[in-house]
Amino acid sequence: MTSPYPHLLSPLDLGFTTLPNRVLMGSMHTGLEERGDWERVATYYAERARGGAGLIVTGGMAPNPEGAVFAGAAGLFTDQDIANHRLLTGRVHDAGGKIAMQILNAGRYAYVKDCVSASAIKSPISPFVPRELDEEGIEKQLDDYATAAARAHEAGYDGVEVMGSEGYLINQFLCLHTNHRTDRWGGSYENRMRFAVEAVRRVREAVGKDFIVIYRISLIDLVPNGQTWDQVLQLARAIEEAGATILNTGVGWHEARVPTIATSVPRAAFSWVTRKLMGTVGIPVITSNRINTPDVAETLLAEGCADMVSMARPFLADPDFVNKAAAGRADEIAPCIGCNQACLDHTFTGKISTCLVNPRACYEDELSYTPTDAPRSVAVVGAGPAGLMAALVADWRGHKVTLFERDTQIGGQLNMARVIPGKEEFHGLVAWFETMIARSRIDLRLNTDATPDALDGFDEVILASGVVPRDPHIPTRPGASVLTYVDVLRGGAEVGARVAVVGAGGIGFDVAEFLTHQGVSPTLDLEEWKREWGVTDPQLAPGGLATPEPPAPARAVTLLQRKSERPGKRLGKTTGWIHRTSLAARQVKMLGGVGYREITPDGIVLETDKGEELLPVDTVVLCTGQESLRSLADALQARGRGVHVIGGADVAAELDAKRAIDQGARLAAAL
Ligand code: NAP
Ligand code: SF4
Repeated sequence: MTSPYPHLLSPLDLGFTTLPNRVLMGSMHTGLEERGDWERVATYYAERARGGAGLIVTGGMAPNPEGAVFAGAAGLFTDQDIANHRLLTGRVHDAGGKIAMQILNAGRYAYVKDCVSASAIKSPISPFVPRELDEEGIEKQLDDYATAAARAHEAGYDGVEVMGSEGYLINQFLCLHTNHRTDRWGGSYENRMRFAVEAVRRVREAVGKDFIVIYRISLIDLVPNGQTWDQVLQLARAIEEAGATILNTGVGWHEARVPTIATSVPRAAFSWVTRKLMGTVGIPVITSNRINTPDVAETLLAEGCADMVSMARPFLADPDFVNKAAAGRADEIAPCIGCNQACLDHTFTGKISTCLVNPRACYEDELSYTPTDAPRSVAVVGAGPAGLMAALVADWRGHKVTLFERDTQIGGQLNMARVIPGKEEFHGLVAWFETMIARSRIDLRLNTDATPDALDGFDEVILASGVVPRDPHIPTRPGASVLTYVDVLRGGAEVGARVAVVGAGGIGFDVAEFLTHQGVSPTLDLEEWKREWGVTDPQLAPGGLATPEPPAPARAVTLLQRKSERPGKRLGKTTGWIHRTSLAARQVKMLGGVGYREITPDGIVLETDKGEELLPVDTVVLCTGQESLRSLADALQARGRGVHVIGGADVAAELDAKRAIDQGARLAAAL
């Protein structure tokens, strides 16, 4: 049989060892290591090794406390640490995998007060001013990289990744942005790159020759005073010389004002930068960022953009990514939609990472879909995310499932998300649900209202009937144009040139985005996206930064809310700033602390601290939250029937697909 992905699935010979394919599971912090439950850590990585990842890289491990991303972050300091890590490397090897440990010294990004850097310059994303390292301090930091690598070797790892990008310590030495030194570690580029090269040289010396040393190189810094392309090339060659086995691509500093992995970033948006490196060094080169399907990965390799592809979040979404691709079942891969909602947003709020589309991620020991020994007939009402996941998990476990959906298609609220420019990945999620249902034994009944009578005879009833938009009951004069977000996003209702969006939650932001765009979404047009965010070739401008040129908005939109806090404050921790920046670029006005007196044909009359004010608009769009749709539950309960209510039908407030899918999966896993 010919391989469905001949480039992706071909081995990579590193001389002393061979990787079975070109897929690197990239480094991700999950928060598991810090909990101290190393069995759980081992299970998480072993499942990904069994799923076929060619090489896994762990989350960043601190080489010393001052370089830890936060106080107490995992590292490899003591004999007990080595024993813990040995447990996980052993389990990965038993599963047939290979694993490298990332050594991450966060420098001024370390959320600890004794953090260190090249110069004492505070980062905009940390409250701590780093201590400028003196000569002795630099020696210590370099030795700590080597010691961490030696310990990783002792703990059974197949290699290490030296984190040299994303604005962490090594990157801080490389760039004038953060390195103002005048000694032999600052000034000329040769001096600034000495720290990076020396770190790799000492790591290689510490681990001997038959050990993988990956260096993650910042190819495009995306900050002012970033590296020029000539400097990047000079560094790449020096790092190869110093003993690296592989170069991995790093993109943008964490403080960069350009999104690099969010869902609105075009797929493989930075692989053109990796391609520029190809042929300039003799060691393999890995590309990364927003690569989430085997087809995209295969195309990148076939086009010569890289020797290997790194995917991180896709392995949270589906640990069997590679095996499914190899078996010709790529359409069954649960897609990472780039939302960050359950992975990065969790990390940055101190929670364990998991995945919106795969609630088992990092909970493998606790949530399993084991076959039932007492199959039952299960009715699921509503084919939105909660109902779909409940139906699938119940089916996988051997229950006999009937899924009722009033609409002509499955997806529920996902069908609104997927029409928003920048949220195209939701198409993939709906398509995945369609595929999985088609390959299941689920009896899907579209265009069907589930009545209490129709639900008689089922052993279990799961109600996932969703939500309806909340009516805020704003007095409205005849002739005024008032729509709900459903009218706009699903009904194709006509919207005027001047619009007031009432309600600035996630959906208000989405609607504002939808109404100000015209033409092809920048997420599907890389050059347009680069223009909008000011990304250019680092050969033309240091760090790859240009002046952003956002397109003219399609409409004049004002986004309103009653709370006086900054609109958008409660959006995702890692993505809120992107939504706010994008709307500001489209000249959306945001007004908080207003009341709504009435809507007239001339606009909306607001109560502000200056008194009553008419905001002249042609259309008002209500995005004022939702209410549960659960009349069927009441009818069933009145008949004395037990019913499981999940998703928005259960609690409408702050409902999102993450909570819906998680609730559906957990309920069905327990049936
Ligand atoms: P939401 O986040 O609850 O926002 C509803 C908005 O309506 C708020 O701004 C609220 O602000 C206003 N509002 C509520 N009741 C009102 C009333 N009676 N009169 C006037 N205004 C009222 O709901 P949503 O925007 O519909 O989003 C639903 C869920 O989907 C949320 O959990 C959201 O996080 C999620 N979602 C997330 C994203 C994302 O980008 N991550 C995108 C879409 C949806 P005031 O009370 O201050 O006026
Ligand atoms: Fe991808 Fe979202 Fe899952 Fe994170 S939570 S892995 S971004 S789908």
